[in-house]
Amino acid sequence: MALIVQKFGGTSVADSKKILAAARKAIRAQQQGNQVVMVVSAMGHSTDELIDLAHQITDRPEAREMDMLLSTGEQVSVALMAMAIHSLGHKAVSLTGAQIGIRTDSKHTKARIRSISTDRVQRLLDAGNIVIAAGFQGIDEDFNVTTLGRGGSDTTAVALAAVLRADSCEIYTDVDGVYTTDPRLLPEARRVQQICYDEMLELASLGSGVMHNRSIEFAKKFGVPIHVRSSFSDVAGSMIVAVAESDESPVCGAALMKDEARVSVLGVPDVPGTSLEVFSRIANRNISVDMIVQNVGENGKADLSFTVPRNELRSTLEAAREAAHVLGAEEVNSDENVAKVSVVGLGMAKQSGVANRMFRAMADANVNIQMISTSEIKISVLVERDAALNALRACHETYQLHKEPATRNPAPPAGITSNDAASVASRLSGLNMEELAIDDISLDVSQARITMRGVPDTPGIAAVVFDEVAAAGVFVDMIVQSCNGREGQTSLSFTVPQDKLEKGLSVAKQLAERFKCQGVTSSPKIAKLSVSGVGLRSHTGVAIRTFGALADAGINVEMINTSEVRVNVVVDGKFGNEALRRLQAAFADVLH
Ligand code: ASP
Ligand code: MG
Repeated sequence: MALIVQKFGGTSVADSKKILAAARKAIRAQQQGNQVVMVVSAMGHSTDELIDLAHQITDRPEAREMDMLLSTGEQVSVALMAMAIHSLGHKAVSLTGAQIGIRTDSKHTKARIRSISTDRVQRLLDAGNIVIAAGFQGIDEDFNVTTLGRGGSDTTAVALAAVLRADSCEIYTDVDGVYTTDPRLLPEARRVQQICYDEMLELASLGSGVMHNRSIEFAKKFGVPIHVRSSFSDVAGSMIVAVAESDESPVCGAALMKDEARVSVLGVPDVPGTSLEVFSRIANRNISVDMIVQNVGENGKADLSFTVPRNELRSTLEAAREAAHVLGAEEVNSDENVAKVSVVGLGMAKQSGVANRMFRAMADANVNIQMISTSEIKISVLVERDAALNALRACHETYQLHKEPATRNPAPPAGITSNDAASVASRLSGLNMEELAIDDISLDVSQARITMRGVPDTPGIAAVVFDEVAAAGVFVDMIVQSCNGREGQTSLSFTVPQDKLEKGLSVAKQLAERFKCQGVTSSPKIAKLSVSGVGLRSHTGVAIRTFGALADAGINVEMINTSEVRVNVVVDGKFGNEALRRLQAAFADVLH
């Protein structure tokens, strides 16, 4: 008999009528011959209301008591859901996280799942019940109630689907699927039939709020197919699976993060350990850093720029100033009037000319690009906030995201389809289901770096540079443009195959002259190290571990980019092997 997990979010259980409608969906699925587990969120805005209540009592409620309080929201909805099913003449049992045996660590309000026991749920299912599980909660070793972080019911649902080896995990929500971009921002956004885990992970972390990020990590790790669909209509929805929708388009979606701030630490001595000094102080304040861009040093000094959520700017600046003081850096500046626009796609690594298409679209829309960071699966640019929506529209248009793909990849079969069932089983039997998992650490010594310094900070430059480099037949891998807050002072670095260095350099030199840049430098032999796996960004500290390991070995980081599934760093080619050994040692405990 097939087993289905159905998750209903807060808006899908907001009142008694909606609870009854959800109950009917579950009953229907059971009548079609499935065993059904429901995972239910708190009703409507009740979690917000509980948080509000706590803050009426104190500014600083203890996290343990917060969890005790917030978990009641889901306890209300599971009980009502069970009653709804009973009233419709069917068997159902509601269970809290503790009753199921969802064990977590003790990090209250953001606990991670360690293990889930399936015995009780399976017994109840076998006896003909619909099992209704409270989302978002668990218990730690000492039976303290914990919660998984806002939106955590998605994670409960996917985790339960994984341990129960469900045939499908349906996420019922107030939108009818996953879109190429937020349809509230761009009405031309298209609902996709299918998207792959890595793409969804990137889009989710870039602010496309369909699902809790950690739930997608679970799905990827354990091969759970997810079906996102509307509670209120019968639209087919979207599948989140291991295979992308189509191999045609290099890009599957675009996202906008409106409330970003840029921070730059200027004139940092260009020696090992400086990034670590800055980012460990920021991480200690629990702030997640994004778009880290370090320009290659000149005269022994480097500039470091990065973005943080705008509401974290104050405390980030505190941390950055402390670090600047310790390091003897020249200046810290910031800009809170910026937004980040990104495009995501698994296919971009396999095609050339993907990034310059985006830069060209920005240029045509007269949008100035302040910073660029590219990785194998996404390209992000930082732009002025007022230009952000135009920039997003230009991206969506240039990759024709509104159009249905002409050919599609077949949807994978239902059920947990991991080719590697043994590895799934071993991951499941591990003590810690949700721990950081590193799949691979690799070294690439085939590339060289080109850096253009003092590039004018005006629209269209990146478009020209990468159009011309591409026209010369030079394939570009990493691109990093940094902006240091001083007028006209951006710098642009990119990597190319070693045998194309001369060609790339001559194009860069001609352009540098045309644009009156300060100059062009290069490094004929660089080493690119890549750490890939699951949870690289939701587990803060991966970048710190990377920086720390390299700093300990006295190895200077020249370029860096991060995504959900990969952290890339570039160091001097002669340190490649040593850097690889250091990273392997630093991640030995989580390397599979
Ligand atoms: N009720 C929790 C929240 O509002 C968990 C969830 O809805 O997924 O964040
Ligand atoms: Mg929710």
